[in-house]
Amino acid sequence: MRIILLGAPGAGKGTQAKLLVEDLKVPQISTGDILRQAVKSETALGKEAKAYMERGALVPDGLMIRLIEGRIQEPDCAPGFILDGFPRTAAQADGLERALEERHQAIDAIVSVEVNEAELLGRLSARRTCRGCGETFTRKQASDSCPKCGGELYQREDDQEETIRRRLKVYREQTQPLIDYYQKRGKLMRVDGMGTVAEVFSRIRSQLRGTLAS
Ligand code: AMP
Repeated sequence: MRIILLGAPGAGKGTQAKLLVEDLKVPQISTGDILRQAVKSETALGKEAKAYMERGALVPDGLMIRLIEGRIQEPDCAPGFILDGFPRTAAQADGLERALEERHQAIDAIVSVEVNEAELLGRLSARRTCRGCGETFTRKQASDSCPKCGGELYQREDDQEETIRRRLKVYREQTQPLIDYYQKRGKLMRVDGMGTVAEVFSRIRSQLRGTLAS
């Protein structure tokens, strides 16, 4: 099963992707996590991506498409994958389609997780991330260390207000048009992303079940 999770920063894509991984037994591919890891390890990719990420801009399409082409060919992706944070532009969506066509594969479902902008701003500015495992928490839930692995919790550089506003603008301008792109291909599921994590997950599951059954 190959799924794309679409949605603005803060819509809950990462959280829902992790739940889907357990449910569907396919890996999550979070381009944001891959890039943050690359920045931390100071790889060539990380060095190239760092400045774009810090200012809330998108990393160039060519780099991202090559990254995904490589990742989806790894053996753990044979049964499928959940893309979280990719594609984010029309060029990336085209690049993904080409890469899958070459392998005689296709995306089964695109899930658009929809949350209003006031809520996104609130969620992102309250978000704390673990340096160790990458898990996210809200400021209210969190102490100084991660309840899961004990790693240090911090506020991502790009979760500060000015950068959040820029990321939301980039989303509106470059990523939101993909909703139309996929709607025309008839595989889009729109899911209300407001409410608890469990409520949103149950909406996603019931819609996916409908898609798979048809
Ligand atoms: P995220 O964790 O998904 O919000 O991603 C954090 C940052 O990584 C984004 O603001 C971008 O700078 C970069 N990034 C992640 N995925 C992509 C992508 N598909 N295309 C371009 N840049 C990306």
